Amino acid sequence: MQNRIIAETGTSAYGGHCAALRFSGKRISVLPGLPEIGSVFSEEVEKLNSGFPMLGKTMLYSSPMKSIEEQILELKKERGAIIIAHNYQVDEVQAIADFTGDSLELSRKAAQLTEEVIVFCGVHFMAETAAILSPEKTILIPDPHAGCPMADMITAEKVREIKAEHPGAKVVCYVNSSAEVKAESDICCTSSNAVDVVKSLGNVEVIFVPDRNLGAFVAERLGKKLILYNGFCPTHERIRDVDVLKLMEKHPDAPVLAHPECSEPVRNLADELLSTGQMCRRAKESTHKEFIIATELGINYRLRTENPGKKFYPVNPDRAVCPNMKKITLEKILWSLQDMKHRVIVPPEIADRAAGAIQRMLAV
Ligand code: SF4
Repeated sequence: MQNRIIAETGTSAYGGHCAALRFSGKRISVLPGLPEIGSVFSEEVEKLNSGFPMLGKTMLYSSPMKSIEEQILELKKERGAIIIAHNYQVDEVQAIADFTGDSLELSRKAAQLTEEVIVFCGVHFMAETAAILSPEKTILIPDPHAGCPMADMITAEKVREIKAEHPGAKVVCYVNSSAEVKAESDICCTSSNAVDVVKSLGNVEVIFVPDRNLGAFVAERLGKKLILYNGFCPTHERIRDVDVLKLMEKHPDAPVLAHPECSEPVRNLADELLSTGQMCRRAKESTHKEFIIATELGINYRLRTENPGKKFYPVNPDRAVCPNMKKITLEKILWSLQDMKHRVIVPPEIADRAAGAIQRMLAV
């Protein structure tokens, strides 16, 4: 039987033209640049023949190299995996995902999935939440360094200190927090259910961690004084009220939809304060044809694709970008599926306590 070197040509993971040589299915050489590829191939095959005489007669076959999207879809099927992505992910990651949503939608989805492997395209605390809810599943995050600065602003130790200062108070913790912080909390919340979660606790003193902006929004809505921690999202704090005002002047018919993580001056200008999932629903249902959007830039992909006849004006598109959300790329998703990494595992003693706080939220 002849030994075969398969030559593949196509687009590389980085978008440029390239070609690869494979022997017995294993990639042995990658060559950049077309269209001279034909002659480069011949030379390369010659070199391989002289270097590996045991290959014997070598045949050069040409077949198109699969795009990165095709490779991901093929491998996803092979692994029995599902890809879920947060609304702030880059456009191409959202496009390849089986499901996109905000934190609450992703938590609910992760809890219902039947697939054994979940590739979680978001920041670390989100994948951790999925791992807590489904400990029997393999939760992969394509980049383990995709963290959340807001989540890092509070520790479990700090929560214990605040609890000691306010005995009897209940701790409500925004899901943008570590598993350890969730484990110290009575109940979790997301930006879409924070008001209902605090309301569900009745007339009790409430410590709200870590987001001061979401906490202030809840306090205002319920007319209730909360003990607020001084954490914040650096990305949403970069959205400026002066820039909202400029867009309002330019587009007087467009309502302002802002995320409650925004600072107070921005929140005060908003027509509605909504989570990203709620923004998507509002944009679809509304009779308005244009909207000013004050949240992380990534949401505009979903808003545009789901509402082709409507216009969306992002506030500070150059500043409202979460660098951690953008760490997930198509290449990293492919590598994640190829090597089944990076697995998110939460120690059972922390996971059990954190699960209680998340489950109580899901029951509200
Ligand atoms: S947008 Fe803000 S809260 Fe969300 S992951 Fe980035 S830093 Fe954290």
